[in-house]
Amino acid sequence: MEDLLHSIEQKVKPLIGLGKVADYIPALANVDPNQFGIAIYSNNGELYHAGQAYTDFSIQSISKVFSLTLAIKHYGEDMWKRVGREPSGNPFNSLVQLEYEAGVPRNPFINAGALVISDMNQSRFASPHYAMREFIRRLADNPLLNSDKIVASSEYEFRARNASMAYLMKAFGNFENDVEDVLHSYFDNCAMRMNCVDLAKAFSFLANKGYSQLSGEQVLSARETTQVNGLLATSGLYDEAGNFAYRVGLPGKSGVGGGILAIVPNRFSVCVWSPELNKSGNSLAGMAALEALSESIGWSVFG
Ligand code: GLN
Repeated sequence: MEDLLHSIEQKVKPLIGLGKVADYIPALANVDPNQFGIAIYSNNGELYHAGQAYTDFSIQSISKVFSLTLAIKHYGEDMWKRVGREPSGNPFNSLVQLEYEAGVPRNPFINAGALVISDMNQSRFASPHYAMREFIRRLADNPLLNSDKIVASSEYEFRARNASMAYLMKAFGNFENDVEDVLHSYFDNCAMRMNCVDLAKAFSFLANKGYSQLSGEQVLSARETTQVNGLLATSGLYDEAGNFAYRVGLPGKSGVGGGILAIVPNRFSVCVWSPELNKSGNSLAGMAALEALSESIGWSVFG
């Protein structure tokens, strides 16, 4: 497996230079684009990696999967009154559907949806970010994981777009807590720094019927796990979910830090990272690496 990963690394590295590092905040714009890492964690506890698999990066929207998991554990089916389960077909930070859909976001993985989920977690925990951080540390089996304060405060400074979504949802009555408090928790979660190995380990429960071997807990039921994977397959890559299904064929979640998580149900969790993004905000080299992997191993869940 590691030979394959090294050959994929060589194959996709020439793509670096064709994309663009996220530049909506200075803390992300300064990341060295010339980086690539990949890690695969199997349900038997085997770890395979190549490139900079131990270099930390900003997990950004991949955090939305942790938030959703925490919310499902507490709210169960009730949460779907406040957030939908349909692909949006729009960019991750789009506001347009919110107005004509009465403040109910299309799915938990676009920013509006993740903000509603953060609001739910805010209602439930006295310190929502710390609850999330403990949860992530446990799942990744890494007590040193932390949020990057510089990234989080920079996101807060440039919060206008996310704040406008949250206030619009508040106006529609789909927001319980103080918007600014929820924005802080949301940005602290997005600013968690993890590496490919941490993320592959932390999300191993999604490949293992909801059970985390690392923390020894049944994180979600087997049924909830298939449901989360279904949502990841349909909405995890925003307006590029269809392309990801076509090219890779796995449940997945991207973040503007350049990470992409992919789940091979009942077998592996995978994390790939390279900071340069395509137009939809998804890692360019990361997508290509997952496509090459999926093709060589025949991983697509579609058949
Ligand atoms: N923190 C980013 C934002 O809210 C996360 C977006 C992403 O990774 N797609 O805009």
